[in-house]
Amino acid sequence: MKRMAAVALAILIAGFRLCAQTAPEEFSRHFMDRTLRVDYYHTGDRRTDTITLDRLYKEGIWAGSPLHLHDEFNNGQYYVKIYDAASGELLFSRGFNSYFYEYSTTDPAIQGRQRTFHESVRIPFPRRAIRFVLESRDRTLNLRPVFSREIDPQKDYFDTTPPAGIVHVTRLMQSGHPHDCVDLALVAEGYRREDREKLDRDFARARDVLFSREPYRSNRGRFNLYGVFAPSREAGCDEPRSGKYRDTAVESSFNALNLDRYLLVESNPRLQNNLSRVPFDAAIVMVNHDRYGGGGIYNQFAVFTADSPASAYLMLHEFGHSFAGLADEYYSSQVSYNEFVPPGVEPMEPNVTALLDAGKLKWQEMVTPGTPIPTPWEKDHFDRLPAAQRAAHLQKDAYRGVVGAFEGAMYASSGMYRPAIDCIMFSRHTLDYCPVCRNAVERVIRHYCGIDQ
Ligand SMILES: [Zn+2]
Repeated sequence: MKRMAAVALAILIAGFRLCAQTAPEEFSRHFMDRTLRVDYYHTGDRRTDTITLDRLYKEGIWAGSPLHLHDEFNNGQYYVKIYDAASGELLFSRGFNSYFYEYSTTDPAIQGRQRTFHESVRIPFPRRAIRFVLESRDRTLNLRPVFSREIDPQKDYFDTTPPAGIVHVTRLMQSGHPHDCVDLALVAEGYRREDREKLDRDFARARDVLFSREPYRSNRGRFNLYGVFAPSREAGCDEPRSGKYRDTAVESSFNALNLDRYLLVESNPRLQNNLSRVPFDAAIVMVNHDRYGGGGIYNQFAVFTADSPASAYLMLHEFGHSFAGLADEYYSSQVSYNEFVPPGVEPMEPNVTALLDAGKLKWQEMVTPGTPIPTPWEKDHFDRLPAAQRAAHLQKDAYRGVVGAFEGAMYASSGMYRPAIDCIMFSRHTLDYCPVCRNAVERVIRHYCGIDQ
């Protein structure tokens, strides 16, 4: 009986694997090896959510893996889903977050002040009519459709014009065909034409920092890295609290969502037009500035300042958000979000848990044997320590280096748990991801490379 059960389990696992992989001929049956970019406006507040189509673009080759057309990470506030219009078959899906969503959780949005954001999603270019559907999560994190439209390659019009302006592309690392690699675009922001030499040094430094850390280091041969440089008229970026506004390539700005250190891209069309010059799965915007600041939006972009003393931390931390959808593991910080996850709901992110069922921890298979769940740590003592003494305290903890479930994560000091005592998603004391975050990043790398999970 035991053996029968094992065989049945093996078949079940094989079945799951087959589900995750798409046969190579399936891609070419439904898609051309080109990219369809859908630009739209997203308007609303906490309660309303209106999407209107802007433009359709036909861009270069598809950067993703033709073998992984379905996003099974179940992460992000939104999902784009592509259905064959005739048969209704789901052909492609991808989860993501957006600047609009972050705005929708802030006080002004809760008070009913509406704002409009320009957004873009990219999908493989369909051969036949498709139904393009955007889904958003409700308060219990179930996905529901918020926008649906048929797109027909025979009837609709697709802009193929390269965007105006000079964009220089540098191949910083070339490992293989875009279908088989993670294609990462490093976008220069606030660099003038005369800053080219500094930019080349900054590109090289960013590359070296990223690939000095796991799991990027051991997966270096699976990345293509492109430097994308549209010269800015002025150096730096906007700093609204100091009244400084600069004319730059993608209009990045501090004080996003009225948080001084939050640095995001304010001109989505400019960013997307620059990115359209390269096949890319992920983008990092490198800002020519020395102040501490950054941001990361899942499956959109990460932003960091090149000359901050904390530049390496900022890039690795924000890329954790944008590339793998990792949550912040810290719990004491000024954020403008409210009610990030309602009580009694398990968050989607792979590195935090509400621990609603201690027997079903989402990283159960990675827990260090013999570790109690939840895992005790001297949290009250840690909270009382001055910031300068906190790193040393974490180094001494009895459960240092162990995977368990430590209370205090995702802006909540209680009721939310993180996998390790320390991690780059928790503190600036380390530049390393904890084992659970590392594993989550590695799974995304495998997704874009078409490697079985
Ligand atoms: Zn972590």
